[in-house]
Amino acid sequence: KRLILVGPPGSGKGTQSPIIKDEFCLCHLATGDMLRAAVAAKSPLGVKAKEAMEKGELVSDDLVVGIIDDALNKPSCQKGFILDGFPRTVVQAQKLDEMLEKRGVKVDKVLNFAIDDAILEERITGRWIHPSSGRTYHTKFAPPKVPGVDDVTGEPLIQRKDDTAAVLKSRLEAFHKQTEPVIDYYKKKGIVANLPAEKPPPEVTSEVKKVLS
Ligand code: ADP
Ligand code: ADP
Ligand code: ADP
Repeated sequence: KRLILVGPPGSGKGTQSPIIKDEFCLCHLATGDMLRAAVAAKSPLGVKAKEAMEKGELVSDDLVVGIIDDALNKPSCQKGFILDGFPRTVVQAQKLDEMLEKRGVKVDKVLNFAIDDAILEERITGRWIHPSSGRTYHTKFAPPKVPGVDDVTGEPLIQRKDDTAAVLKSRLEAFHKQTEPVIDYYKKKGIVANLPAEKPPPEVTSEVKKVLS
């Protein structure tokens, strides 16, 4: 399957991704994770992306289109993929169409994590992540066994620098202005499935499975 996950920051994309990935044997391409790794490594890509990310603005279309174009060539992505956090602009969606056309494949479904903005601040400010695996926890909704420690590896968890109420405001503005038109772009193609992203994770998962079965 070839899937796109779209939704505002904190809507649950990263939480559902590993479950969907394992169920259907897909690769998981999260542009936010890839960009953060580039920032941490201080690579040329990271140097270009850092300032926009810290402000909660989108990085340029060319940068993210480039990383996705490379990543789609990975052997693990040939049977199918989950795009998490890409495309986030209509230009990115159009470029993705070109990239897929070139490879003779198409997007099967766009999973739209529909949720009210009011819920997101609590989700974002309570989020803790294990950077190397992408595992996500929440102080209240999904606490690790030991506070600040990854359940699987015992390594420390971190909070993202942009997971503050102030930066969330900019990220939500970018979502409404630049990413909501992407949902309309795919609605016209008739491939959008709306998920009840406000519900607890297991209920979101069962809706995903229903939509994809
Ligand atoms: P979240 O998981 O909270 O939705 P992400 O981790 O996907 O956020 O993205 C973090 C930041 O990385 C964004 O605020 C933006 O600066 C940058 N980013 C990620 N994906 C894209 C994209 N497709 N286009 C432009 N910028 C992106
Ligand atoms: P996204 O990748 O869309 O930015 P995440 O999956 O990282 O969102 O979720 C944001 C935060 O909310 C995380 O701390 C996660 O543990 C928590 N969370 C995810 N899904 C739910 C849910 N359905 N109900 C309550 N909390 C959730
Ligand atoms: P700086 O040198 O500017 O402090 P960092 O190397 O600490 O930059 O990384 C920038 C931000 O991205 C930090 O908040 C870091 O914790 C976060 N980060 C790094 N890698 C990841 C990742 N894989 N997932 C989520 N956040 C990450």
